[in-house]
Amino acid sequence: MLIDTAVSFRLNNDSEIYEANNNQIKKINKNITCEKMKTVSNETETIVTNDISTWSYFLKNDIKWKNAVILVVLHIIAIYGFITFPYIERYKTVLYMQFMIIFSGFGVTCGAHRFWSHRSFSAKLPLRILLATCFISASQVPVSAWVREHRVHHKFSETNADPHDSRRGFFFSHCGWLMLDKHPAVLQKSKTINMSDIEADPVVTFTDRYFKFLKLIVMFTTVAIPVYCWNESWYYAVMSQFLKFIYNSHSTWCLNSVAHMWGYKPYNRSIASADNSFVHLVTYGEGCHNYHHTFPSDYSTPEIGIGGFDVTTKLIHFFAKIGWAYNLKKSSTSLVERTIRSRGDANILSSALI
Ligand SMILES: [Zn+2]
Ligand SMILES: [Zn+2]
Repeated sequence: MLIDTAVSFRLNNDSEIYEANNNQIKKINKNITCEKMKTVSNETETIVTNDISTWSYFLKNDIKWKNAVILVVLHIIAIYGFITFPYIERYKTVLYMQFMIIFSGFGVTCGAHRFWSHRSFSAKLPLRILLATCFISASQVPVSAWVREHRVHHKFSETNADPHDSRRGFFFSHCGWLMLDKHPAVLQKSKTINMSDIEADPVVTFTDRYFKFLKLIVMFTTVAIPVYCWNESWYYAVMSQFLKFIYNSHSTWCLNSVAHMWGYKPYNRSIASADNSFVHLVTYGEGCHNYHHTFPSDYSTPEIGIGGFDVTTKLIHFFAKIGWAYNLKKSSTSLVERTIRSRGDANILSSALI
């Protein structure tokens, strides 16, 4: 375990936000105090990795046939819907679908990921409720299950305990892992993950307890909006949300597959996760995966490389300005630069802002 010292800035007014740029702290609002803190920058733990890879893994493990059939059927419907959807004619529904992609995606990238999994900032109750609503609209799994799986992924990346171990190939790490029983190491190491903060969050415990019911309500509401607001047919209202679900699922899965197999590694050459422009684009700014695995508690993406386009960070800034988000954690510029020089690719510094 490698521990680096980073500088973070605790805001003594909930409505404040800071930026670290060019070795300077840019104060957006007022009354900023700062304190030094220690942050774990690389929590990867090595465990036994003598396991089979790629398709042979499927042959030796129990397939969850129900999940496999559901995924296949969903994709057949999605392909049909994608080809036949009258995009121009139903442009209002297409725009609404686009909005819902960002709305649901925000629940995953900002809510389940940056807030609940990494605690990279603090959020007041209204924002936590909004994040939970956005997350439920993504129709994935309950928040606590998502967080546990993600924390295991970070701690045991590219080992048998990684739920979507990229060593087993693209298909497994993308969506194949959902069709198989979990590796015993995943189950074993999952139990070691500290979830006390999640169990203490009443928003999570409530949404987890009533997850299926809440999911149905959110699904019905999101489908009903185009029907009652601009007389969309039920068929295209449902199909648009269905296409949104498939898009969001694949963009999330790309982080586990594409961003762990291909891309640039400016911050840490020795890990599989990479900064990938394609993933950055389809996830609206989550593609700096080499940066993220190197500085997991950072609430944002870097200001260098491909990090500029990041919808989630911009929305976090907005919520910080209205006081709903605070204590934004940011890796200091000097720490990032030191890490690049010691473990990454110093060439990025020549074209960087730092
Ligand atoms: Zn993460
Ligand atoms: Zn990852």
